[in-house]
Amino acid sequence: MRLLIVEDNAKLAGLMARQLGERGMAVDAVGGVEEARAALGVATYDAILLDLGLPDGDGREILRRLRAAGEGVRVLVVTARGALAERVDLLDSGADDYLVKPFSIEELLARVRALLRRPAQALAPVLSAGNVALDTRTLTLRIDGAVCEMPPRELRVLAALLSHHGTLLSRERLEQAVYSFDDEVTPNAIEAAISRLRRRLEQAGATLSVTAMRGLGYILAERAA
Ligand code: CA
Repeated sequence: MRLLIVEDNAKLAGLMARQLGERGMAVDAVGGVEEARAALGVATYDAILLDLGLPDGDGREILRRLRAAGEGVRVLVVTARGALAERVDLLDSGADDYLVKPFSIEELLARVRALLRRPAQALAPVLSAGNVALDTRTLTLRIDGAVCEMPPRELRVLAALLSHHGTLLSRERLEQAVYSFDDEVTPNAIEAAISRLRRRLEQAGATLSVTAMRGLGYILAERAA
């Protein structure tokens, strides 16, 4: 099990990481919204322990983006009582559970165990960003409302990019996402699929474009106006 702790109190994050690590979990800890986005772009987590008050933003933003992108990863919000004023809103935004600070380590461990026993939330059936919407059940792609034909490999690449919209998707994760459906894929085939996808998006008037980050991966983002 791999966990991401998003917590700007380094002492608390270190304590949580150590306790969870001693119980056999692989733990990464980051201290802010931007670092969390970067971590989520390159690794797959079974659960996220999310603080809300972060120095560069609100943890709710991370939660909203994950859910809007159709990411079903389990999220335990760990925050001070005051920040929980809108508990219902928090659960509606897609948190699986919450834990109020201060808490005992035993309680944290029990909540994490309970969380990991639950299935991850089902992926949103429709991934969308800008004027692009992909129904992952039927693999129907619509751009600006019109159905757009695209070969299955390009659609798999697009689905992986859409689920990480606005963040870096590493080459490895993109390959994993495509390999799981299509095991004849070579790195060249991914690059070829990206360039065909880019051309199709442009021809169909998509407001999104794919940017290559040399040696790192790709970002799908709104086209500059
Ligand atoms: Ca905080």
